[in-house]
Amino acid sequence: MLAVVVAAMAGAGALCAAPPAKEAGEVVRPVAKAQTVPVSHGGDAADDPAIWLHPSNPARSLLLGTDKRGGLDVYNLDGSRRETVSPRCRPNNVDILYGFGLGGRRVDLAVATVRAGDARGVKVWAIDATGRLADATAGGTLGVFGGKTPYGVCCYRDVKTGKGYFFVVGKSGAIEQHALRDAGGGRVTSACVRRLKVGSIAEGCVADDELGWLYVAEEGVGIWKFAAAADGPAKGRLIAKVGEHGLTADVEGLTIYYASGGKGYLIASSQGSNTFCVYAREGDNRYLLTVDPQAGPIDDVNDTDGVAVTNRPTSRQFPAGVLVVQDGHNSGGNQNFKLYDWRDVAGRRLRVDPAFRRPGRGRKGPPPR
Ligand code: CA
Ligand code: CA
Ligand code: CA
Ligand code: CA
Repeated sequence: MLAVVVAAMAGAGALCAAPPAKEAGEVVRPVAKAQTVPVSHGGDAADDPAIWLHPSNPARSLLLGTDKRGGLDVYNLDGSRRETVSPRCRPNNVDILYGFGLGGRRVDLAVATVRAGDARGVKVWAIDATGRLADATAGGTLGVFGGKTPYGVCCYRDVKTGKGYFFVVGKSGAIEQHALRDAGGGRVTSACVRRLKVGSIAEGCVADDELGWLYVAEEGVGIWKFAAAADGPAKGRLIAKVGEHGLTADVEGLTIYYASGGKGYLIASSQGSNTFCVYAREGDNRYLLTVDPQAGPIDDVNDTDGVAVTNRPTSRQFPAGVLVVQDGHNSGGNQNFKLYDWRDVAGRRLRVDPAFRRPGRGRKGPPPR
């Protein structure tokens, strides 16, 4: 059975996505191969996934997912839940920073925006080689936006200096870049080093460590591109607009598929059309195609929110990369995350490059400072 149907939009009306599809290009229709168990809380709870790649054993890689009404859920790549950490922190977005220098060692960090009543800001967990997460946040929460509630977050590692950062995005469109620092005693703290801005509510963001870009999704407007370096210019450029190529508000999660030679893809969650727009990672980020998952043994995705992708092998079920997306209406209960084999997403148009290791991910390289 064909898992994917690739249809040129012209003359393929029956296969086209809903209203904005006339402006979309090719549409790829993968079927989910796995899904996580539903989050513990009802209503709008699941939001943003992140994939942690195990340093030596791909099959022990993990999927992290936020439950906005609970904690940070840790899943195996078959969708089973291993644990929930910080069960009352109410995380919104989550991302991974590899190889952070902590106590003279390199440690992988999970970083999330949180909004518990008395703890608004960012939390950091250290991930050990067994896949256990331990809260490493100095003072319990890192303050951002002068104590206001952050919305989106993404990590950035400057490959020239080895320094680790996160960007937080706020509901007013404000953006802060924070440098992560070893606070001693196995704890991590941060300091704001730069401020950026978009014009209205924004959440989804992703940094391209290798090419040095930050992308921010302004929900009703489109995708902005900024220099990610802490000393970079503050002026951004709108590289994708709502209304073009089927990109439909709200623009939500962003993620990057890394391939060799600076190639790959920027993928945006187009919540209003329940689809994902795929842009070239390099150059002017030209639009390439749209991913519109379809129902199979696992239900289709709706009101898509956060998204994460890796080109690398993880479990035996996903030997050539996996795309993970939030499903706003899970037919099996509370919201959850759906997992797609990257080869089904790539079809004949996109690269499948599981051998490429993005810089900064491993434990080699310049010593962190
Ligand atoms: Ca949002
Ligand atoms: Ca669909
Ligand atoms: Ca669904
Ligand atoms: Ca979201």
